[in-house]
Amino acid sequence: MTTPAGFREAFAEFAEGGWCGLAGDPALGGQGLPKLLTLAFDEMLYASNSSFALYLALNNGAALLLDQYADEATRARYLPRLYAGEWLGTMCLTEPHCGTDLGLIKTRATPNDDGSYAITGSKIWITGGEHDLTDNIVHLVLAKLPDAPPGAKGISLFLVPKRVVDDAGQAGEANGVVCGGLEHKMGIKASATCVMHFEAARGELIGEPHQGLAAMFTMMNYERLSIGMQGLGLGEIAYQSAIDFARERLQSRAPGGAAAPADPNNPPTRFWCIRTCAAWRWTCAPGTRAGGCSRPSSPASSTAPATTRRPRPAPVPRRWSRC
Ligand SMILES: Cc1cc2nc3c(=O)[nH]c(=O)nc-3n(C[C@H](O)[C@H](O)[C@H](O)COP(=O)(O)OP(=O)(O)OC[C@H]3O[C@@H](n4cnc5c(N)ncnc54)[C@H](O)[C@@H]3O)c2cc1C
Repeated sequence: MTTPAGFREAFAEFAEGGWCGLAGDPALGGQGLPKLLTLAFDEMLYASNSSFALYLALNNGAALLLDQYADEATRARYLPRLYAGEWLGTMCLTEPHCGTDLGLIKTRATPNDDGSYAITGSKIWITGGEHDLTDNIVHLVLAKLPDAPPGAKGISLFLVPKRVVDDAGQAGEANGVVCGGLEHKMGIKASATCVMHFEAARGELIGEPHQGLAAMFTMMNYERLSIGMQGLGLGEIAYQSAIDFARERLQSRAPGGAAAPADPNNPPTRFWCIRTCAAWRWTCAPGTRAGGCSRPSSPASSTAPATTRRPRPAPVPRRWSRC
């Protein structure tokens, strides 16, 4: 699978700059930044290129999960590579017959003699399942052991690299991991969403047997937050683009008459309704960043009638008075 032109170069520069390990454990090569700062960075990244940002979002979630649930040896073998952007991580939950109801997964993990596991099954819609940004890809895969209890209580978590990693942390021969194809999507097309087949792929157990879903929630919750930041980033860049366009395009005449007699056309920002719309949009991003503006009050916590709980149009920011 080849990423679009420029992605490889951009990613190499990105990784070289240390951006893949912003919130990572400093003892293993991460930069230890607080989540608040990394979220601000995530927003900018999504606003710039959501498809590109998704490769990083999955990697960040995988690193967070391994940091919390993997043993010391596994952390030492994998986390420095993920923080450095030498390898990238994925999240493999969904199967053709189940997404939300993961208790139904069919992927199986059979114990090998050497303590590893043979993982067999197919996953769909795997973001970054295959790509050419890194030599190795670290898949975090939900599967069931032979003695698994039924349902969600029988799910275990396995680390399955694209290329087998030895005890010294060096990637070697190809593992039994095959990309069966790319999903066709309406958007974010430069983000590879893949069908992945695990064919007796060598994997190692992360955390306790049958406790995999709880561990995977660390990554799933990170991805949920991250997709929230995607919305914020796209909202912000949509606002910025709209404002640039409204400032540049000369059309129609301002209600109070042409601003410059030589040119009867004025930018749309001369119109009060446009300015109010823009101001409202302008307040959405900082409001969402603050985590409150876009959330309606819960009926239980508010006695005010619904109509008065609606956010009021914000005052026109000062910058608009210059239009
Ligand atoms: C662009 C994209 C990228 C993705 N990337 C990944 C990835 O990297 N890794 C990965 O594993 N998956 C990925 N997915 C898949 C995603 O996680 C699933 O779409 C999601 O888990 C929902 O599963 P589903 O689509 O099968 O919906 P369904 O499970 O069919 O759910 C549809 C609706 O039915 C409801 N529902 C389903 N089962 C029940 C139930 N038992 N009780 C009550 N309500 C129920 C759900 O709440 C939902 O509203 C991706 C999807 C997309 C679109």
